[in-house]
Amino acid sequence: MKILVISDVHANLTALEAVLADAGNNYEVVWCLGDLVGYGPDGNQCVQRIRELPNLLCIRGNHDLAICGDADLSIFNHEAGEAIIISRRMMSPETLQYLRSLPEKQVSGQATLIHGSPRNPVWEYILDVSIAAENFASFDTQLAFVGHSHLPLMFTADPQSGLVERAYRYPGVTTPVTTRAILNPGSVGQPRDNDPRASYGIFDPQNMTWEIHRVPYDIPSVQQRIIAAGLPEKHARRLSAGW
Ligand code: ZN
Repeated sequence: MKILVISDVHANLTALEAVLADAGNNYEVVWCLGDLVGYGPDGNQCVQRIRELPNLLCIRGNHDLAICGDADLSIFNHEAGEAIIISRRMMSPETLQYLRSLPEKQVSGQATLIHGSPRNPVWEYILDVSIAAENFASFDTQLAFVGHSHLPLMFTADPQSGLVERAYRYPGVTTPVTTRAILNPGSVGQPRDNDPRASYGIFDPQNMTWEIHRVPYDIPSVQQRIIAAGLPEKHARRLSAGW
């Protein structure tokens, strides 16, 4: 059994479809780590598509929370806040109801799923070793899967010393997961590692391996829809270079 791990789709249906086509039949279970909506033009369609995925576990992210009106918008930067207000008007009642129903955390076997960090599930970014090290105490499973930073990072804790290491995961490499680890699949709909291709992960819980995959998609068509929807132009521009 393999698990497709996606995060930060951010209302980008073209990127999501490219990921699902690329993953093909290579998975039986889907974990979605939040931020289904926000920034992009296709919120309702993305939520509908994600809900149809097989054996789905899905959690909510900070943008999902904010679009439902359950977060203080002053936390977001100017354009992100503007995108949230516009996106909120675009959401159907069904989409909002689904986003509201999502939990902040799910546990499946040896994995804890959260959007931000184990100790602060919706908001905290795990970008460096010290934040990761503090978070290893906040979950009981061997692994935690997180999104939020939009970066395909892997943090491992040495079983003897507890020393935490940070590694950026390139596509095309199968990584054995032998220790406690915090794994991030990168972002489907808005990568931020200067690689504009959609990012996702495949986790194999039998063989305990982790792979990052990157998929090109039709970025100009998404940019056109962002502009046409009246969403901030910055969020169209950034897709070309992946920042
Ligand atoms: Zn995000």
